[in-house]
Amino acid sequence: MTKDDCIFCKIAKGEIPSSTVYETPDFKCFLDLAPANKGHALLIPKNHYSNVFDIDADTAGRLFSLATEIARAIKEETGCEGMNLVQNNGECAGQTVHHFHLHFIPRFKDDGVGLGWPQGKADPEENNKLAEAIRKRI
Ligand code: 5GP
Ligand code: ZN
Repeated sequence: MTKDDCIFCKIAKGEIPSSTVYETPDFKCFLDLAPANKGHALLIPKNHYSNVFDIDADTAGRLFSLATEIARAIKEETGCEGMNLVQNNGECAGQTVHHFHLHFIPRFKDDGVGLGWPQGKADPEENNKLAEAIRKRI
């Protein structure tokens, strides 16, 4: 599965250089060219999946398993106190490269990295109904 014009497919195949952190036959982790913080890395499956709606559960499961090891290595090397794992799906959610990827964003106290959102207020009854409706679709 590949897309000719996909920059991450080209990185996966080594056609475009990247600062590679880790690589297996199926996955590649490399440093982001426009990092939010030092050590900001991206983990991709080498096959092209657009987003979380497209990727299969087995590939995603193996990717997240690898993510635990990568997160620990980045934490040890950068000395970060925390880390955001971010995964954007769709333009409205901030996705700019439409090849599934997981961000590792090392965090330091008062580093000014903004990943927040305004908090709403849920009605518990509405939440129960919505949770049930979603559950029926799984
Ligand atoms: P998104 O906004 O789709 O979740 O994240 C895409 C990320 O890919 C951005 O953080 C951006 O800096 C990074 N990026 C885009 N093009 C390249 C590239 O050619 N090489 C690397 N290393 N990172 C890239
Ligand atoms: Zn791709």
